Amino acid sequence: MILRIFLILTLTQAVLPAQSDDGPFPPHKIIGNIYYVGSAELASFLITTPRGHILINSSYERTVPLIEASVEKLGFHFRDINILLDSHAHGDHVEGNPLVKKLTGATVMVMQGDEKSVPGSIDRVLRNGEQVKLGGAVLTARLTPGHTRGATTWTTKVTEGGKTYDVVIVSSINVNPGYILVNNTKYPEIADDYRRAFEVLRSLPCDVFLAPHGKQYGLAEKYSKLGAGPNPFIDPQGYKAYLDNGEKLFLGKLEEQKRGGK
Ligand SMILES: [Zn+2]
Repeated sequence: MILRIFLILTLTQAVLPAQSDDGPFPPHKIIGNIYYVGSAELASFLITTPRGHILINSSYERTVPLIEASVEKLGFHFRDINILLDSHAHGDHVEGNPLVKKLTGATVMVMQGDEKSVPGSIDRVLRNGEQVKLGGAVLTARLTPGHTRGATTWTTKVTEGGKTYDVVIVSSINVNPGYILVNNTKYPEIADDYRRAFEVLRSLPCDVFLAPHGKQYGLAEKYSKLGAGPNPFIDPQGYKAYLDNGEKLFLGKLEEQKRGGK
């Protein structure tokens, strides 16, 4: 009995903070054939094609019904998701993978380096630069490691109003609390990997940038401007500012840990 109460308390504590982040957000078209189908905090992107759809990020298992409802609300069918991809192998982006696969039969593709950390079965392990193609959509998987070993930034091109735009769906450049950048025995090359990620991200042409957490790319603010004037998601300056800020935070933490002699 005591054990049971303990377990319930532990589970509740583990679940509650994340759940409060996990409310619904209006599904919407971002640009071209890319749609937002995630929650208020956790971003999931749907790339639609005449041959079925691609979903990026299953989020938590409990987020999957919300994603499903968003897809259907936009007039698409959840069961038409043929390919499931992710930003990186942290639970808030991939925990729902087995459920999405069960409900849709989607082919699951994961970047090399993250394949052991993603729950459920994986159908294809991707290498840096490989392309995922479906019904005319082409997504390129770019390894931008550090946040995880297989952290994946997705790039694609979309057309809207006769113009072509470069879209970059950034993996994550955050250095999470508790990350060890100096003398990390489990991930010795972590700092070099972050540097490599920034180098890759800076080399990418970008008109529209997206990320696995809405607040990383200004989701709420940009969404509120939709329909009034130019597409608010076209934001090359925002992308540069995001990288500048992320790199500054990374270098600051690196220096701090070097000084700390860790
Ligand atoms: Zn993460």
